[in-house]
Amino acid sequence: MIDSVRVRLAVWHVLVLAVLQVGFCTIVYYMLSHSIYSSVDTILGKVSVDVTTALREELDTDPEVYYVPARALHSLYHTGGAFAIYDLDGKLLADKPQGTASRLAPFPSDRVVLSTRLQFYTLSLGESNKHRLSSQIVSFPDHGKIYVVVTSHLLDPMLSDVRVIRDIFSVAVPVLLLLSGISGWLLSRKSLEPVVAMADRARQIGKVNDTERLHVYNPRDELGRLATAFNELLDRLSNALSQQRQFMAEAAHELRTPISVIRTASEVMLDQEHHEESEYRTVLNITSGQIRHLARTVEDVFRLARSDMGHDSLQIAPMYLDEVLAEVCRNAAILGRAKGINVDTQEMQESPFEGDEFLLRQMVSNLLANSIKFTPKGGRVSLSMERRDNAYWISVVDTGIGIRAEARDHIFDRFYRDGSVPLDETSSSPSGTGLGLSIARWIAEAHHGTLQLVSTSERGSTFIAELPVS
Ligand code: ADP
Repeated sequence: MIDSVRVRLAVWHVLVLAVLQVGFCTIVYYMLSHSIYSSVDTILGKVSVDVTTALREELDTDPEVYYVPARALHSLYHTGGAFAIYDLDGKLLADKPQGTASRLAPFPSDRVVLSTRLQFYTLSLGESNKHRLSSQIVSFPDHGKIYVVVTSHLLDPMLSDVRVIRDIFSVAVPVLLLLSGISGWLLSRKSLEPVVAMADRARQIGKVNDTERLHVYNPRDELGRLATAFNELLDRLSNALSQQRQFMAEAAHELRTPISVIRTASEVMLDQEHHEESEYRTVLNITSGQIRHLARTVEDVFRLARSDMGHDSLQIAPMYLDEVLAEVCRNAAILGRAKGINVDTQEMQESPFEGDEFLLRQMVSNLLANSIKFTPKGGRVSLSMERRDNAYWISVVDTGIGIRAEARDHIFDRFYRDGSVPLDETSSSPSGTGLGLSIARWIAEAHHGTLQLVSTSERGSTFIAELPVS
């Protein structure tokens, strides 16, 4: 196929015009011909009626006279045509102009049906001139006479005008098509010029830098809208790309610290030949804590990366949310007890739900783990759930240290940790990965829900996840 839109447009333009022009010319040609034939037929019809009337008058005057047909034609005139009167056997009785019957108004051949109704037909007579003829059987029962009246009219002078028009059409149509093909090609080239320019520009953008955008001349026309949509797409791509880069950089940074701690600790140990057992224990403790942290970071990064790529498809299945929450709460209570924190939950109603049990477990665990982490000894963390309208509202309330005003807008960002918060004293590993809340929010959103920090102060914080019932 033709690879240029411009050429394709021009070809279509010419094809459509060709069909329209040829159709138009054909219709005009046939309408003109038809009107000529029908006006000639009207004349011939009138002439036939005149001949019949003249015959009747002559028969009424003197029925015995054998040259009635000649007398009937005597007073009739038909410019551009001829008459002839025959008997039923085809014997010529009279004609006018005299002696022209065989040439201009012959007795109907076998092909023409003789009838008492007027019959019209076209013949090429004489020097291949086209004639329109009429024939009719006229009978006069009172006088016992039957005649065949033939009239004819020369068509050529009238048809020649139509032929001139046909000749004009046959020259004008190809010329017009050629001109319209050229103009169509020029027009499509002109109108597609901005698109070609946009494509060239778009090709340059990736090469030079990703902040450059297409120029929008008129944002309201089609090309302006295309350029705007293209620029918006570039913005989205560029944002996604920079988020990706930031994510990669932060992930690399996050992994670098534990690795260098492990390396330094092992190098220190290798520098000297003999160590106390307690020294080995300390180093192994540090190493094991860092490895735990590394493993969790890798797992969290992997989960977020898969969710970004849309590969982490949910394993949706029917379940009871109350049972899932109760179990997560039991596990968290063990963690809380070790830190001297009371983790409780109130009696929950049976809550059937369709979702990914593993992910929902992780969402609530992350929230509870944070609450336990940021609540001082003797504090309290409670988990509750209620059904409002068409959604389950899961609340995690703690009596912890709260979240500073400056940090509130960032806690759901990836790798965000509030540096001013004191480290978890009970753990040998560094504080969290900074991905817990991002993952929890992603899980809520993957279930078409939301996760919000609804209140926080130095007396504690409340997180609520809202999960609509499908
Ligand atoms: P991490 O895995 O490091 O806890 P998160 O994304 O879960 O990362 O949390 C980000 C930050 O939000 C934490 O470092 C902490 O500063 C703050 N935060 C989260 N939950 C609480 C909470 N219940 N109380 C106080 N601060 C919290």
